[in-house]
Amino acid sequence: MPEMPEVQGLVDFLRERVTGLEITRVSVANIAALKTYDPPVQALQTAEITGADRHGKFIDLTTRTTDAAPGPHLVFHLAKAGWLRWYDQLPTTIIRPGKTPIALRVALSDGSGFDLTEAGTKKSLAVYVVREAADVPGVERLGPDPLDEGFTRDTFAALLAGRRTQIKGVLRDQMIIAGVGNAYSDEILHAAKMSPYALASSLTDDDVDRLYSAMTETLREAIAEASGKPPAELKDAKRRGMQVHGRRGEPCPVCGDVVRSVFFADNSLEYCPTCQTGGKILADRRLSRLLK
Ligand SMILES: [Zn+2]
Repeated sequence: MPEMPEVQGLVDFLRERVTGLEITRVSVANIAALKTYDPPVQALQTAEITGADRHGKFIDLTTRTTDAAPGPHLVFHLAKAGWLRWYDQLPTTIIRPGKTPIALRVALSDGSGFDLTEAGTKKSLAVYVVREAADVPGVERLGPDPLDEGFTRDTFAALLAGRRTQIKGVLRDQMIIAGVGNAYSDEILHAAKMSPYALASSLTDDDVDRLYSAMTETLREAIAEASGKPPAELKDAKRRGMQVHGRRGEPCPVCGDVVRSVFFADNSLEYCPTCQTGGKILADRRLSRLLK
């Protein structure tokens, strides 16, 4: 799943490539991906793209109409298995709904364009055509962006204070902090040498300092890595940058201990026992759930 750094990479790429181009056609191949009906998707046709922004893990293409009025926004969230496929020259093949991973195709005035695709059966790619980005419920509810200038160590401390929930869950909660998901929360906690199960409310000042630095540094480094890469290279760049996430059974690059996983119903987390839990092996949650 793309998280803030990869989404920022896509936004930077799109801003560079599509700003100033007109949308000539939008084809919806998977109607389930389109979450809005007003304005209609056709309202994007003939609109000129004026820029690309990121809100958490949402991508927002802004437009203006032919009479220079603000046009609709095309907002999308790639979720677990969604991706953006870019074409310098968009294929002219006809997309057959139901027989393709393509959910939406956008054609642009210079012959280029992109597909929003979704692999697998879990359909969670979400596309919105809205007047304002904040009309998208998931955007409206977003917490602050941890790389915003105003997001200080004290902002972070205030968000954690009094939350008797595990820090892993707090970092992933888009309504508390925007943009961090399962992969980067693993990386941030590893860099901070902190257990994913530590309670947010019980962190010391020193813990908060360490976690804040780990979060901002991990995300900045990943964005620097993603920036300037074409969409097709972003997933590999993400995988390469991971120290523990997705590396179960491999040696921790910091201490050499074996990276461990905890499995949940539909995902897993990775951590290094020596770096993060004082050597303690965390229980497998699939079993705990069954035993409840
Ligand atoms: Zn380690």
